Amino acid sequence: MTYTNFSLETDSDGIALITWDMPKRSMNVINALVMEEWETIIDRVASDENIKGAVITSAKKTFGAGADLTMMQAMLAEFEKQKAKGGDGEAAAKLLFENTFRLNQLLRKQETSGKPWVAAINGLALGGCFEITLACHARVMVDDPAAKVGLPEVKVGLFPGAGGTQRVPRLIHTQEALQFLLQGRNFDSSKAKKLGLISEVAPAGELVATAKKMILDGLSPVQPWDQKGFRLPGGQVYSAAGFQLFPPANAIYRRETYDNYPAARAIMKCVYEGLLLPFDTAIKVESRYFTEVLQTTEASMMIRSLFGSLQALNKGARRPMDVKPSGIKTVGVLGAGFMGAGIAYVTAKAGINVVLLDRDMEATEKGKSYTAGLMDKAIGRRRATPEDKQAILDLIKTTTDYGDLATCDLVVEAVFEDSEVKKSVTEQAEAHMKPSAIFASNTSTIPITSLAKNSKRPKSFIGIHFFSPVDKMMLTEIIMAKRTGDKALAMALDYVGAIKKTPIVVNDSRGFYVNRCVLRYMSEAYNMVIEGIPAPMIETVAKMAGMPIGPLSLNDETAIDLSHKIMHQTIRDMGEKAVEPQHMELVDNLVENHGRLGRKNLKGFYDYPAKPKKKHLWAGLKDLYPQQDADEVDIQEIKNRFHATIALEAARCVEEGVVVDVREADIGSILGFGFAPFTGGAISYIDGMGSAAFVDMCKKLQKKYGKQFKPNKLLLQMAKENENFYDRFNPYGEQKQVA
Ligand code: NAD
Repeated sequence: MTYTNFSLETDSDGIALITWDMPKRSMNVINALVMEEWETIIDRVASDENIKGAVITSAKKTFGAGADLTMMQAMLAEFEKQKAKGGDGEAAAKLLFENTFRLNQLLRKQETSGKPWVAAINGLALGGCFEITLACHARVMVDDPAAKVGLPEVKVGLFPGAGGTQRVPRLIHTQEALQFLLQGRNFDSSKAKKLGLISEVAPAGELVATAKKMILDGLSPVQPWDQKGFRLPGGQVYSAAGFQLFPPANAIYRRETYDNYPAARAIMKCVYEGLLLPFDTAIKVESRYFTEVLQTTEASMMIRSLFGSLQALNKGARRPMDVKPSGIKTVGVLGAGFMGAGIAYVTAKAGINVVLLDRDMEATEKGKSYTAGLMDKAIGRRRATPEDKQAILDLIKTTTDYGDLATCDLVVEAVFEDSEVKKSVTEQAEAHMKPSAIFASNTSTIPITSLAKNSKRPKSFIGIHFFSPVDKMMLTEIIMAKRTGDKALAMALDYVGAIKKTPIVVNDSRGFYVNRCVLRYMSEAYNMVIEGIPAPMIETVAKMAGMPIGPLSLNDETAIDLSHKIMHQTIRDMGEKAVEPQHMELVDNLVENHGRLGRKNLKGFYDYPAKPKKKHLWAGLKDLYPQQDADEVDIQEIKNRFHATIALEAARCVEEGVVVDVREADIGSILGFGFAPFTGGAISYIDGMGSAAFVDMCKKLQKKYGKQFKPNKLLLQMAKENENFYDRFNPYGEQKQVA
């Protein structure tokens, strides 16, 4: 018998080696045909008397990436189609359940086939693919730092629904199982072995032999949980251990998620309820919750953005196709300060030569030492070796001589945020850059089009806006000036791809895209402070709304005196009306009268006492404005205000053509400032509730709180036509015209 996705060879010891190798795919994934073939293989292993046991491995570099999420989306589409046919939806729900239960049943059949199964994990094994190995009676993992195992489904709004929530807490301690399932982190072989997720570690050349030997040594074909007298590693649910575990686990779950993620909630339920049940019933419960979660808005929005769009953008969805790959070898970085030092580090880490330039050698060396410091930390954590550190440092050449930029394919400018300084360095750099090289500015506030005026080659001038800290933040915003050409865009995208960050491409606008949205978040918080909403509520409710950091805390990090500077500059550039007078008064008061500049002088909205004391909100803040009674504050309304003000700004950016691809608006909001990931991003938040409902909510907020909630023309029109953004601005095909 031959298979499309597998090969099966039985050796003289009677051990079947099943090799998974999907044609025309770089990675194995689970799809309908894989399941069909897998079932045939299980039946064959179970029924063939000559087969004593089976080893499953992969012919790819990795073991497998998980279930094909497009298959999930297709299952959902079928469900919607069935539902649309009318009736109570029960038939549609039943079909969805049967589809989702299929893999669960299959893996149960595998582990109860009467023959021992061993997984030889030769590389990355994630999600459903790791669940296949969990249904084996043992797992041998290759000794390779690149090989990882994990169940990351929760990160895209789902959870392991092929027995993962049941096998993991039967295999390892419940507390560790919950962390593993809820955090969705991947572990290398040593961590996985220590936790008990895998049985053995073997060198690549001995992987399959080690797996086979386990069978020859008499590995039991019965899983521990199917054996008499099985005890859960973390203790039974109704036991002293269970009582000590679940109440705090539930509290931690609430603290970490604010109950915003249906998949995380389902994991809690599956583990708690499943561990009280016999295995066969437990997996049914798991599949029922999976069916429920799959139907949530959160899951579909998260799959769309955090799986589909993220992948598409990382693969260069916005790259002009007809420009040849840039083949970047050397990047110049102008300014070795806070940002320049970070940019030099991420560039060298990607194996690209860096020419790091500043006004004097002391400054450039200081910038380079930032890389040394980060590498020392990595060495301390055993993530790098001293040789790695030296290799990266060798790639960074420090200089004060613009002539050294002659070899650069790309020059990234990160000098002071001052138009004159930027003009001077642009001119000096261009005098030495080769004709094909591209110049990029990392400005955060100056329009790229105005900076491009300093260039003799405006087609080769672009913005690459990094976020701080550069080594941690995954997003970069690429800004097109009016005359930026395709070659510059391709180079910027190739560079961002090489340093493994996610790009969004936006058109020029004051604050570009991400900062425009972030400013709305902080600005609404100013309104709340002025209204007298107690600051602890503002901060906590922002987190309840899914934001990673409260707006006042964020303002402390970015510096209140910077807001002060930007606001005054905006008034100078655009007139008094450009800044809300009450906001100006608040910020002037904080900076000028109270010396509260933010975290940098340990005095902002928060006070920052010396460690071990923790930061706490500044007590004087409540004396600036009469305070409302906390019990009277409508928490849901605060959440709505934060979400709506950001989403509205995103919608304005779409209307103005600042953002042209709605996927970028979503990804930019999540990776740029952590906008409630469970919504799928600022635009998907609107689509999730529907444009009409969103406009309705905004109108109510506008009436109560002011013009910042006024829906734009585009939204009003969409609400009237009951349209959503992903249909109107279909990023996958033809777009309709903007109103
Ligand atoms: P910084 O003050 O830490 O560093 C600026 C560096 O530029 C200094 O080392 C300075 O010596 C050098 N420099 C100044 N004039 C120079 C000249 N003529 N020639 C060569 N070097 C010169 O500032 P930063 O925070 O790194 O910001 C740099 C740029 O990045 C700014 O445009 C800023 O708006 C932008 N940016 C900053 C952040 C942030 O969070 N700090 C985020 C995104 C973008």
